[in-house]
Amino acid sequence: MKIAILGCGVAGLSAARELRRHGIETVLFDKSRGVGGRMSTRYAGAWEFDHGAQFFTVQDEDFQVEIDAAIRAGVAAPWPAKALYLKTGALSADTGRDRYVGQPRMNSLPKYWAKGLDVRLGNRVTAIKKAESWTLTFEDGASASGFDGVISTLPPAQAATIVPKTFQEREAVVSAQMHVCFCLMVGLPAPIDPGWDTLRVKDLPIDWISINHAKPGRSQEVGAIIVHSEAAWSDKHADSDRAWVQDVMIKSASALIGFPLAEAPHIALHRWLYASSKLSPDVPCLKDGGLVIAGDWCVGGRVQGAWLSGRAAARALL
Ligand SMILES: Cc1cc2nc3c(=O)[nH]c(=O)nc-3n(C[C@H](O)[C@H](O)[C@H](O)COP(=O)(O)OP(=O)(O)OC[C@H]3O[C@@H](n4cnc5c(N)ncnc54)[C@H](O)[C@@H]3O)c2cc1C
Repeated sequence: MKIAILGCGVAGLSAARELRRHGIETVLFDKSRGVGGRMSTRYAGAWEFDHGAQFFTVQDEDFQVEIDAAIRAGVAAPWPAKALYLKTGALSADTGRDRYVGQPRMNSLPKYWAKGLDVRLGNRVTAIKKAESWTLTFEDGASASGFDGVISTLPPAQAATIVPKTFQEREAVVSAQMHVCFCLMVGLPAPIDPGWDTLRVKDLPIDWISINHAKPGRSQEVGAIIVHSEAAWSDKHADSDRAWVQDVMIKSASALIGFPLAEAPHIALHRWLYASSKLSPDVPCLKDGGLVIAGDWCVGGRVQGAWLSGRAAARALL
């Protein structure tokens, strides 16, 4: 048995590791230059930014076992953040489940999970076809064949372009939707402490600020701040002028932090076109024959959801 896995984020890696546990060979393909998907880290000179997933929580017992192993390996850590919530002008503690992060950066965890797997980066899959076996076609016209099954963990908009018209669950893929999110990355000459590590915000263009350098294992030589835009505002302004989006986010975040971010030596903006789940089929994965569609969006999003969906896809094939 040889299975092709499309996407090398948390879901794809989880599927590959589950299949490996059952002695099944996998080959993972991803369009990006690194593994991890949205559990990612952006490098810029002296600065590093976790510009996708900020932290994750654990409710599932099996996922907890996986995270405990990663903590023992030194690639993940609890983040006892000073977390605040701002709503209608009032600050309160942002309570909830224990938070965890990759250590020393967010992508350390997927990199660790990818060890020993056959990962082929820089390969954008544009089509999949079943004859005797499954064949993948890539953007550059090349192809790879001889697969007994395919697991896709691409975002729904991208999965919809490769799923065969005959796929029984096609409607669930096509109708799934995701929110846009802008990520503002601000690099400072030195760490700052506004009195909190994370600020969740209601009713503003931004909904999240994270003091990246306050996470465990991060460099204390420089300061790094992450600002995420609010989902509905991001969807509305997905194609708005980037300089304007950046300006609005800087002004909003500067007022909240009490620090003029516009003067920072490094400022960058990234648009996540498929950031978080908006309309989800709410099933662990979608299967028809030898093709399984998975990803965080199947179960409503988030890191744990991606891990569970990838594992469910592997088990569905098994
Ligand atoms: C801004 C932001 C903040 C977030 N914050 C949190 C948080 O605080 N807590 C939390 O739990 N979760 C958070 N998330 C969500 C979390 O990152 C995701 O749930 C999880 O990482 C998704 O994993 P995945 O494997 O399902 O998908 P992805 O990580 O998106 O993996 C899909 C992979 O497919 C690849 N791909 C796409 N198209 C193709 C193609 N045609 N051919 C080949 N490869 C392709 C992509 O490059 C990508 O690597 C956040 C996400 C974003 C963007």
